Amino acid sequence: MRFYCRKVQGETMKVLKLDHVGIAVEKIDASLPVWEGLMGIPLNGTEEVVEQKVRTAFLPIGDSEIELLESTDPEGPIGKFLAARGQGVQHLAFRVDDIDAALAELKAKGVRLIDETPRYGAGGARIAFLHPKATGGVLIELCERKPQTQTGGARER
Ligand code: ZN
Repeated sequence: MRFYCRKVQGETMKVLKLDHVGIAVEKIDASLPVWEGLMGIPLNGTEEVVEQKVRTAFLPIGDSEIELLESTDPEGPIGKFLAARGQGVQHLAFRVDDIDAALAELKAKGVRLIDETPRYGAGGARIAFLHPKATGGVLIELCERKPQTQTGGARER
């Protein structure tokens, strides 16, 4: 009986790992002395996600990452976040193996979603955000990444 809910539902989304922590910053360059300098986490690259009005920088830690988020437009999500709350942790990203199934399951459970269908984020990942009102104030991103190639994964370097 302890696992009643799980058994009856027959499906429970599986979070594989903490994929990355998204941190809103005013300027990536200005924040690197903290992450690279102080923490010794090397920068692995940057990418602009035009649709999200954001420039991102990746700093891998083991097989997770710190993702620095610099706004390219005050009207974008990071621009608005910075204006309202200033720099700091903006979201947690959980990797799932099947984002479509995860979203369908959450929707069926009545969980409020920001993205009802996945879109493309940095690094070609398929991502979707849950509404923080549904998760105790934590902005959670689900992300699904294509399996790494046998030769060993450019993102891991
Ligand atoms: Zn993210």
